Amino acid sequence: GYHQAVKENRQLYNTLQELRGNIRVFCRIRPIFNEEGKCTIDYIGNDGSLMVIDPFKPQNTCKIFQFNKVFGPTATQDEVYKDTQALIRSVMDGYNVCIFAYGQTGSGKTHTMCGPSNGSSKDIGINYMALNDLFQISSIREDNRTLEIRSCSNNVWLSLPDANMHLVQSTADVLNLMKLGEKNRTFGSTAMNHRSSRSHSVLTVHVHGKDISGGAIHSCLHLVDLAGSERVDKSEATGDRLKEAQHINKSLSCLGDVITALAQKNSHIPYRNSKLTQLLQNSLGGNAKMLMFAHVSPEADSYGETISTLKFAQRASTVELGAAHLNKESSEIRELKEQIDGLKNALAIKE
Ligand code: ADP
Ligand code: MG
Repeated sequence: GYHQAVKENRQLYNTLQELRGNIRVFCRIRPIFNEEGKCTIDYIGNDGSLMVIDPFKPQNTCKIFQFNKVFGPTATQDEVYKDTQALIRSVMDGYNVCIFAYGQTGSGKTHTMCGPSNGSSKDIGINYMALNDLFQISSIREDNRTLEIRSCSNNVWLSLPDANMHLVQSTADVLNLMKLGEKNRTFGSTAMNHRSSRSHSVLTVHVHGKDISGGAIHSCLHLVDLAGSERVDKSEATGDRLKEAQHINKSLSCLGDVITALAQKNSHIPYRNSKLTQLLQNSLGGNAKMLMFAHVSPEADSYGETISTLKFAQRASTVELGAAHLNKESSEIRELKEQIDGLKNALAIKE
């Protein structure tokens, strides 16, 4: 009886995820660095909700957002990874998976994906934990799965053929590759932040293997540290820098358009509008699984960017797609629950 119930729960959970179109959105709030600065995050619920307060309005207007999960400033890398692990492991079962870090410069994207900026190996990021996991699973299964890594830190001025493909044997190999990629990544300083990175970094892992019945598996995992999403002020960026910034903002909005189209189950998905979405096409949509980390800085002077990041992320999340969709979900879920109840009753009678 117990195992059956667990199995049914699992089925219900999977169905719920299917109904959500395999897009999940996690929000991560980094710690506040400026002690005197006001904090814009007013409340974090453990149900994935979040309340943001406008620090400049005397009456302090609130905005509420809902995501699949919210990680507060004290959340550790391990906690974040724990909620990502199942998704990453599903790559070994043949699913294409895409994980994005989105947010303004300085909000913690690289911290989540790679680890702290001081290079400390204590708080390693998702990239390393994921690779470690995949290597471990492939060695336990002893079924000749190989991992192929494509590390591509392309400046927007360069084209994709610059991406390199490497066969790797251990997480250490990957670490070295990532370091090289990070070196190649160009940093342009803006008035906002000198570490500002004006490029996307994409780490792709290809998995080749066989499933239990001997069928070929070829899946891939994209780990994407996106360029900063902040709007550019024309007075602060000129010439090539401004063009570059506009180009980046365009590729981010194209990504948003693709995710929204997928979330709304549109028949036309505008993959071809940017290189980024073309590159990731096989892992966006279909039965691919997607996770977006929306990163926000809690400081008052980031309020505008925080709201725009949360709105972008909300748009990507089917959970809030409006009444029609939600109703459809709830009626389907209700039906499933009824089915499960029926099965449980049938089981109880047998026992
Ligand atoms: P981004 O990649 O979005 O520009 P970073 O990841 O470089 O931002 O983060 C900016 C700074 O804040 C870095 O020094 C980083 O180590 C630190 N940081 C970001 N997120 C956290 C966190 N959750 N805990 C501790 N430090 C963080
Ligand atoms: Mg970064």
